Amino acid sequence: MAFSKRHYLGMAAGYSASDWLRHTFTMGRKKDYQALADYLSKRYEGEAVLCKNGRSALCLALKAYFKPGEAIIVNGFTCYAVYEAVKAAKLVPIWVDINKDDLNFDLTDLEKKISKDAKGIIVQNSLGNPVDMKKIEALAKKHDLTIIEDLAHSVGVRYLDGREAGTVGAAVAFSFGKEKAIDTVSGGAVVLRAPYKNEITAPTKLPKLSDHLRARFYPMLGAACRGMMVVRAGGVLMRLLVKIHWVEKSADNKLDLERKMSKFEARLALPKFKNLRKSGEPVLREFYLVQNRDEVLKKLRMARYFFDGFWYEKPVSPRRYYKRVHFPEVECPNAVFVSEHIINFPTYYQRGELTKARKIVEPYIIKDIVKEGKE
Ligand SMILES: *Cc1c(COP(=O)(O)O)cnc(C)c1O
Repeated sequence: MAFSKRHYLGMAAGYSASDWLRHTFTMGRKKDYQALADYLSKRYEGEAVLCKNGRSALCLALKAYFKPGEAIIVNGFTCYAVYEAVKAAKLVPIWVDINKDDLNFDLTDLEKKISKDAKGIIVQNSLGNPVDMKKIEALAKKHDLTIIEDLAHSVGVRYLDGREAGTVGAAVAFSFGKEKAIDTVSGGAVVLRAPYKNEITAPTKLPKLSDHLRARFYPMLGAACRGMMVVRAGGVLMRLLVKIHWVEKSADNKLDLERKMSKFEARLALPKFKNLRKSGEPVLREFYLVQNRDEVLKKLRMARYFFDGFWYEKPVSPRRYYKRVHFPEVECPNAVFVSEHIINFPTYYQRGELTKARKIVEPYIIKDIVKEGKE
């Protein structure tokens, strides 16, 4: 049976056959959990805490450095998970518009929106594109903002001045969720680098059995769906698995500060960190801004590329939670524009696998946006 990873998103396509076997059978021990924490503490020079997922890790960082009611600057093109972390820490988000070429803070808008209440800034390196950290640091210094680095998209990325992402901020948060830079299906971590004012407690409870099993079997279930002879049947099976909660949509993963990540995930995450140095492919997703996106997606589907699950369809995604955010669209026109025109592919696909997809996309690309550092 061919468990091809080709052409699919949202069906665990980033996992190879050996990956799902490893995922299903790896046993984790306490020492694996400790080994990952020790590695992160050393590499990012701080106190590492492993968490249930990225949003819990980010929330823990926010709780350590900020007081309820304080405001924090957030990239205006992001995942709902970030908003959830900000809310759970009882902070007020200040949404800043983005550049169309790197999907990171528009520095002019950033400077304009720094207010008296702003005490911190979450730096995200959208889809693996590094921010201009030097300028952000200068602004942070001037306005006394604490920098939190969210590396969900960008482990191993280097800033323009050569420093590695995760070596600048007061704290660094990681997500090990599906399709993230380090992907073990779920899990997260935070490294507290600077001394912090507020007391926080590391999670002590074991993961729920249901969460543990979902993380274990997702790569296998995804492979089974992708391996179905008829594409539609694979899609139907995946929807069924979501319905019966054998598979969870990433955005629905709950923030929980009490639960740890699974020990086997810690064991799988560690070599992924160690191997990053060699791989040298820090961009997480290759993105394009296109006209007539629905038509492009349809053509891609006809060529058997199922790339509908691109990041992000709303400035704060997914769509089903967008209303809760009360996102200031008028203040962030670029974020709105990008969310209406973007498509992107994960870079774990081989170059050759995407040649045809790129050909399909090419005629639709909006030309007046020059992407720096892209071919
Ligand atoms: C996915 C994501 C997170 C948190 O991820 P979890 O799903 O909670 O593991 C945090 N920040 C960004 C930018 C993300 O995309």
